[in-house]
Amino acid sequence: MNKALRQAVIAGNWKMNKNRKEALELIRELGPMVKDASCGVVICVPFTDLETALTYTSLEAKNIKVGAQNCHWEKSGAYTGEISADMLVEMGVEYVVIGHSERRQYFGETNATVNKRVRAALDAGLRPIVCVGELLAQRELGVTDEIVGLQTKAALAGVTKQELGRIIIAYEPVWAIGTGKTATAEQANEVCHYIREVVAGLYDRAAADGLTIQYGGSMNAKNAAELLKQPDVDGGLIGGASLKAADFTAIVNAASN
Ligand code: PEP
Repeated sequence: MNKALRQAVIAGNWKMNKNRKEALELIRELGPMVKDASCGVVICVPFTDLETALTYTSLEAKNIKVGAQNCHWEKSGAYTGEISADMLVEMGVEYVVIGHSERRQYFGETNATVNKRVRAALDAGLRPIVCVGELLAQRELGVTDEIVGLQTKAALAGVTKQELGRIIIAYEPVWAIGTGKTATAEQANEVCHYIREVVAGLYDRAAADGLTIQYGGSMNAKNAAELLKQPDVDGGLIGGASLKAADFTAIVNAASN
């Protein structure tokens, strides 16, 4: 399937950065810069910046969609410190990052909890951006496909073909996140292609060909064009470079060309 038929989405993952004032400054700067983007543009901000981002984008930057960086699988209850998918939807949030490697690495996220969060996000009406990716040691052992395949299958357990249409998968090799080491365009494409084949096996060819699969891991203004032109790479999940309007815009522009 022609990659042009899939929507490329550039999503910024701000991680634990930007207080409300800084968030507003960045979004105000970014809004006019990406207003003509032909790809999807999403900013996944800390919970404390959601209201600010939603308010500003709804008034002045309607093409920027707002996402959270996690959600819990229960609707409400005794889960101190957690936020439910329903709470996000009620605010007007449309996207949520699920299973980021930092959550897997530092907060005990597992394939099983990723699947529960994906289910909850879909049930609430959110669009999950589901992160998968191998550690350096796993790549060196030659088990990248096995790891990423398992993460993908586990995340999608119980997800219907229709629901798959609301999911984005982000292939993020852990060794490339925040390290300045980017996967080569070939490596990125190879694994994104493999994920598409796994999805084709789970559903069918058409479902797999319609799935947006992003690459993430030190994507920046310089390397974005090469990565984004790969046939199976449909956009990017951007950490560090999403914190500067000019850098993020350059990536959005690379995806829009
Ligand atoms: C990320 O946080 O998902 C990410 C890809 O980070 P960075 O772009 O900084 O490597």
